[in-house]
Order: sequence, then structure tokens, then C-alpha cells
Amino acid sequence: MSNTQFCKRCLYSTDHPLGLILDEEGICSGCRIHEEKDTLNWHARWHALEALVKPYRSSNSSNYDCIVPVSGAQDSYYIVHLVKERLGLNPLLVTYNKYFNTPLGIRNLANLRIRFNCDALCQNVNPVSVRNITRSTLRQFGSIYWPILAGQTVFPVQTAVRYKIPLIIWGAHQGLEQVGMFSHEHEVEMTRRYRKDHDLMGYEADDLLTIFDTLKEQDIWQYRYPDDYELNAIGVRGIYLGNYVRWDPKAQHEEMIRKYQYGSAAFARTFDCYDYVDCFNYMNLHDQLKLMKHGFSKVTDHACREIRHGRITREQGLGLVRRHEQVQPEYVPQFLDWMGVAEKSLQFIMDQHKNKKYWKQPEFGQWEYGGWSTLQHGASCESSLDAEFTEAFQANSKLENGREEKYITVGKGFP
Ligand SMILES: [Zn+2]
Repeated sequence: MSNTQFCKRCLYSTDHPLGLILDEEGICSGCRIHEEKDTLNWHARWHALEALVKPYRSSNSSNYDCIVPVSGAQDSYYIVHLVKERLGLNPLLVTYNKYFNTPLGIRNLANLRIRFNCDALCQNVNPVSVRNITRSTLRQFGSIYWPILAGQTVFPVQTAVRYKIPLIIWGAHQGLEQVGMFSHEHEVEMTRRYRKDHDLMGYEADDLLTIFDTLKEQDIWQYRYPDDYELNAIGVRGIYLGNYVRWDPKAQHEEMIRKYQYGSAAFARTFDCYDYVDCFNYMNLHDQLKLMKHGFSKVTDHACREIRHGRITREQGLGLVRRHEQVQPEYVPQFLDWMGVAEKSLQFIMDQHKNKKYWKQPEFGQWEYGGWSTLQHGASCESSLDAEFTEAFQANSKLENGREEKYITVGKGFP
């Protein structure tokens, strides 16, 4: 018997890797914290944000006011819009090159820099080290995303230290948004601990050295978090806009499309066409690995978000999950080529990371899926989705953006 318990309102279970609890009414902590979005005084919270950033404004315009981590996708436009247009700050935009770049992501990033007229820095860690680490973390933790998660969470902090810019401004806090780890009123800030435990699956750069004899100091040093002495000397802190603004990614992306021509693209493994359009693998191979390890994939995250915002019912959400989660990932040949592995080897490694709780093997080579969506009670019914909802998630572009289905290693940009 499975001991997995589900929230009565959304589709998350008590097995959520970020940790989630159900209250006496069977409603999860994520749904409860989401209720704050409709009860908090967001006007007052915005004023609190204005007061918070005030001391960080450069007095003589000779340095940046803050750092904003960006990519060619996922809330980047909205964050820069709030920081530059609404708070009136002068940000330094920083990007970690994830190498699985789509032409659309490169286009979105170039368009972002031009539209908002911001200075930008990009970090390109040498591809040999990135490939070495990816190979090791895929084998050991079933993750092709460790270097990307490590790079995009550490490069902004390193830049803050190097350029002496103490304030880093992030978008929403994943632990708050998904599982209600904190209240908005806790005004939680960036920490080394959260990055290690959740973003990096418990492994910091130095831990990789002790696990893998294939990796050397020269491979991992770029992913090392600055030490407390350096951080304290500059007074580095990272704040989350989601604590001060009623966070709604769907509405925000639609505003960014209207105002700044943000480019969106359809994915086979989810219905949301706004997130992750800068990467060929996040919503494909990476998402399939998530399903193998955790028994649910990104479409469940997207459906829970939409259920909580009241745009779909629980039954409709479950229907969407069942429609998308078993779809085979696309762009696998590009990954095999980049990694230099055969398809069979990749399949072998991926099978080893299938969580026995959700995957049974009745016969050799045959797998039976028993993940979250198969344990849920109640009907699923996606056919009754509002036309308004399905029309909203219509992509205005494709990942290729009229170009080849090829990773762009270093993109100069073409708006
Ligand atoms: Zn819930």
C-alpha cells in the first residue's frame, strides 16, 4: 500500500521533494500559503519593497543599484520590468550560459537587453568542464541540470562580490510558491543552505570532488559559492519579488508578450508555453528524469499553479497531467551528440534512476508506471477546459524560432 497522501485542492502529494504537509482539512501547505495572495495588502507590500531597496540606489550613478539574474525565459522580462520600470533601479543583468540554448531563448535574451536598455554580463564556463560535470551528475544523481542550477544560482552572487553590488533581486521563491515553505510575510531571502539542499540536490561544488574522481578542481571552482567573509564584507543579500508582488506567472507573461514581445513556444510535455523556452532539455529530457525520480513532472507543477489561481478545476488539472506526462521527450539526439553517448547508454542510465516507489518492472525491459497521477482518486476531465484557458496558452513562436534544431553554444542575439 502506498502511503502517499494527496492534497484535496491541488495535485501535490506528501512525497513532494521540497516537503509539504496537509492540514486537518486535507489542504496542503502550498495551497494555504497561496491563499495569502488574495488576503495580503499588496499595495502596502509594494511600499515595503520600495523602502527596502532605497538605500541601495547608487548615489552618484557610478555603480549599478542591483543585480538581476536573467535568462531567455521564465519571468526574466517581468523581473526586469519591475526593477527597471517600476522601481526605477539601474540593474546589471547577469546570465549563466546553459549551453542547451534554443534560438528562441537567445532571441528573447537579446530582445530583453535591447528593450530595457540594460548592461549585461554572461558567464561561459568552458564546455569541457560542463560536459564532465553533466556526465558525472547524470550517472550519480540522474541530473543533467546540476551545472545549470549551480551556475545560475552562484554567478549572480559571485558578481555581487566582484563588482561590490550588494543587492540581488530574484523573482519568486520556489519553496514558497510550490509547497508553502514560508509565508510571504516572512520575506525570506536567498541563502547558501537553500541553494545546496534544494537547488543542488544536497551537493555543493566541493562535494562533487569527493564523490567523483573524474572531476578536478579546475572543473568545479567556478561553481563555488563565495565564503561568508566575502559576502559579509559587501553585505550581499538576495530578495524575492514574489514576497512583495502578487505573483501570477501566466498573467505576467501575457503582459510581457503585449508590452515587449516576449516569445513563447509549445511543449509536448506540458500545456504552459511561457516557461523554459530558452532550453531544449528542461521540458524534455530533464522533465522525463523528474518523472522517473519523483513520480511527477513539470506539468503537475503547472497544473497545481493554475488550480490555485482558480483557472482550472482539480479534475481538469489531472486530465492535463495525464495527457502530457508520458509523452516522449524531444531533442534527445542533440543531447546524445553533445554528450557523446549512445542512446542505449543513456537509456540504461535513466532506467537506473527510476524510483522503485513509482516504477515497477514486471519483466526485464518492461516498466509499469505508478506515479502520482495513477494514485489520484477522482475523474480527470480535460475536455471541459474553458476556451479562454486553452487559447491563452497559444505559443507565438517555436523553440527553433525559424532556425536549426541545434544548441546555440554562444548566442550573440538577434531580436
Ligand atoms: Zn494543495
